[in-house]
Amino acid sequence: MKKVLVAGGGGFIGGWLVKELITKGYEVSAVDIKPLAEWYQVFPEAQNISRDLSLLDNCIKSTDGINEIYNLAADMGGMGFIENNKAACMLTVLINTHLLMAAKINNVSRFFFASSACVYNAEKQNKALIDPLKEEDAYPAMPEDGYGWEKLFSERMCRHFYEDYGLETRVARYHNVYGPNGTWEGGREKAPAALSRKVAEAKLTKTNNIDIWGDGEQTRSFTYIKDCIEGTIKLMESDIREPLNIGSDEMVSINGLTQIIEEIAGIKLDPKYNLSAPKGVRGRNSDNTKIQALLKWQPKISLKEGLKETYQWIEQEVSKKLKAL
Ligand code: NAD
Repeated sequence: MKKVLVAGGGGFIGGWLVKELITKGYEVSAVDIKPLAEWYQVFPEAQNISRDLSLLDNCIKSTDGINEIYNLAADMGGMGFIENNKAACMLTVLINTHLLMAAKINNVSRFFFASSACVYNAEKQNKALIDPLKEEDAYPAMPEDGYGWEKLFSERMCRHFYEDYGLETRVARYHNVYGPNGTWEGGREKAPAALSRKVAEAKLTKTNNIDIWGDGEQTRSFTYIKDCIEGTIKLMESDIREPLNIGSDEMVSINGLTQIIEEIAGIKLDPKYNLSAPKGVRGRNSDNTKIQALLKWQPKISLKEGLKETYQWIEQEVSKKLKAL
């Protein structure tokens, strides 16, 4: 039985990945810096450890006897977090660096790194109706400041660990992953969760307004967690060593996203636009030509379908919180 380490196993994507790997019969070790009580999902079938993976000694300890590593550990969040915490985002480089070094020391055979669409050159994302981003659009490099530079640097470190030491590395560039059991409040949440929370709060407290960051015309694509997990495991099991987009190509504006969530909730709110809030790039979408050609796969769950599951979960969380007040 293969022994797999999921770094960041207490987080959103990590939690779902641990679940799927257990179902597939792997022996899973989940490690996260957060205390266990704060993990989004905990599975008794896995070995669950609270440990700081920015430290080399902890990475060496955590990779002893491990065959494959999925690195999803990062100090990150949505635009509200990454625009105001650039140094913290860049310090995540310690996790990837030390995990790669530990993988080499402990003869781990495969290493997955969760990169991001934030590596793409900002100049290719300055209009709402942009061409979807192809893998080669990361260079010449002009990624998102802080968070994106760390991801691009760590991608290259993965590549050189293969070239120089033969460690098989796989890199996915995730495009906005969303779903239940993720961050929905506290300042690190991303647009689908933040908007679902605002709509649920308005519905449950019978208010009429919704605060939207920017003018709402900025565009993105959003990837449902089940697609993200399927694509991640497919990429890890493949022989593709170059970074690949794992992202939906269903582009939507933030206004459009809000409208879908309002329809699911069965209400219509009055938008209040906050033009000084963090907005990120003007337009972003995933070009899936390469992943379709190489893996014969791309995300398939529609935004409406994924948002229905996500909104229902967040409405329940908001309701629990309101009742506890
Ligand atoms: P998340 O914040 O829910 O999970 C990351 C986890 O890493 C957290 O539980 C955190 O406690 C843990 N962590 C942070 N520092 C650590 C440390 N020093 N040692 C051990 N654990 C540590 O985020 P997520 O959405 O699950 O993202 C997972 C990965 O995917 C991250 O690398 C992220 O940058 C990348 N990614 C996510 C998205 C997205 O839309 N969610 C998009 C692009 C890339």
